[in-house]
Amino acid sequence: MGTTTSQHIIVIGAGIGGLSAAALLAQAGYQVSVVEAQTYPGGCASTFTHKGYQFDSGATVVGGFQQGGPHRLIAEQLGLVWPVQRYEPAWVTHLADRSIALTADNTDVLRAFPQSAGFWEHQSKVADLGWRLSASGLPWPPTSLAEFLQLARVGLTTFPNDLPLLPLALQKTYQWIRQHGLGQDKAFVRFIDAQLLISSQTTSQYANAMYSGTALDLARQGVYHVQGGIGGIAETLVAKIQDLGGVVLYRQHVTRIAVEAGHVTGIHYKEGRRAKHESFMPADFVIGNLTPWSLDELLGEASPKHLQHEIAERKLGWGAFALHLGVEADKLPAGLADHNQIIADPDGPLGETRSIFMSMSPEWDAGRAPAGHRAVTVTTHTQVQPWWDALAQHEQAYYARKKDYTEKMLAQIDKVIPNFSGAVRLVLPGSPVTFQFYTGRHMGQVGGFAQASLFVARGPRTGIPNLRLVGDSIFPGQSTAGVTLGAMRVAKDVMRTMPLNLRHKVVLA
Ligand SMILES: Cc1cc2nc3c(=O)[nH]c(=O)nc-3n(C[C@H](O)[C@H](O)[C@H](O)COP(=O)(O)OP(=O)(O)OC[C@H]3O[C@@H](n4cnc5c(N)ncnc54)[C@H](O)[C@@H]3O)c2cc1C
Repeated sequence: MGTTTSQHIIVIGAGIGGLSAAALLAQAGYQVSVVEAQTYPGGCASTFTHKGYQFDSGATVVGGFQQGGPHRLIAEQLGLVWPVQRYEPAWVTHLADRSIALTADNTDVLRAFPQSAGFWEHQSKVADLGWRLSASGLPWPPTSLAEFLQLARVGLTTFPNDLPLLPLALQKTYQWIRQHGLGQDKAFVRFIDAQLLISSQTTSQYANAMYSGTALDLARQGVYHVQGGIGGIAETLVAKIQDLGGVVLYRQHVTRIAVEAGHVTGIHYKEGRRAKHESFMPADFVIGNLTPWSLDELLGEASPKHLQHEIAERKLGWGAFALHLGVEADKLPAGLADHNQIIADPDGPLGETRSIFMSMSPEWDAGRAPAGHRAVTVTTHTQVQPWWDALAQHEQAYYARKKDYTEKMLAQIDKVIPNFSGAVRLVLPGSPVTFQFYTGRHMGQVGGFAQASLFVARGPRTGIPNLRLVGDSIFPGQSTAGVTLGAMRVAKDVMRTMPLNLRHKVVLA
């Protein structure tokens, strides 16, 4: 590959956030190179092949393709078509005493919780405001005084009827639930907590109410299957970047971000983790599709003080334990929904096999599994540290923990889908250790940070003027739709910081 002179942007990582930013910047005319450690794109939203199955590695349910939704907005900007099909129900939540199908019209939720109609009416207004704010390109949430003033000036004149909703920006979700007289309704709170854990990485006690309004809106806006598996989103973005003259390099592990006089000058990288030979690629701007911990590692001594402080202070976020299962289709009950959320107990903590999400490849997408089989991904939230402790203690302790989680998760599914485990023909378990290996995420933390407050949300700035973060560590956080929205904001920020100089556009050989 030839060297570039100016306005070359390197994106480290081909996750959905990195690819979305890369595609937008390539379309704007910048010379863009994406450098990815794996042999395929998508990170936590990728699809991998094993023994004839196409398994979704992490994410399985995607939304944001509706009018004004992040995937629709970026598709309109880039002129691309997603290989997706809408389906209902979005998923079925199985609580200890009832099962509830989540659909666009919310019928089954209202049947299960008729007393919650007022809450959902309110929620849809909050979500509509959230979607309009994100589609408007306004700086939401504001991260500086200038952004706050811009939001106040434009927002108040554009959305005057929404002013009564604004107090929710300062409240926790449980306060909002209480305002609707539902605070003592244990089953309803459990249902909401289960939804918030998968959409905002925390429960109603901590989740910001305004954020939750949008996070609870997935089924209403519609969810989609991606043909061939979730990796189709990343592959569509890669094809677009290449069409636009950008480069996507696979199996290239970035080992260091080079900094001189407070500015990034490029990256050091090598082919595979174990390779001895390192190469250097110069850049005018670098975007890391990384966690703050990984960014700090790649910067080494050049890591700005406040980034060092951030990672020293931050509590570790959630990890995931995942099972990738090959399952005999004809042993499954007829009419089973493709996605099932199973909550074992009526109260107590969620995660650690007590709440699981199980997704099956759709029957119509036959290429995802050998004939008569379906590719299934089952995940649960888990703390990352104990997995590393077990590994440090002894390999056997680590494998015993994996076996224990596998058995518990299959037993949970069996309670809802009798003899499901009898249909399982292949089991591939993955812990936070596995996630770290395949996605480069620090200790295998996934899903970004809990969305507890809009006003301390982490933005893309790094303390180095020509370096930004993208992905689920920055607001609005996790999900393919969320990181797309974050990437749109980062791309705009890069264009503002380093306006395109057409005279300097360089074509790579
Ligand atoms: C178990 C699980 C279930 C989920 N379920 C859903 C769901 O149903 N719906 C949904 O919308 N979202 C879901 N999510 C969240 C969603 O997958 C993520 O929020 C999103 O995909 C993260 O994208 P990202 O841009 O942060 O990049 P990441 O996915 O973190 O990708 C980063 C990329 O960077 C690469 N990389 C890292 N370090 C280096 C390096 N040094 N050199 C080169 N390359 C590097 C990695 O290999 C990786 O490809 C789920 C996540 C998990 C883990």
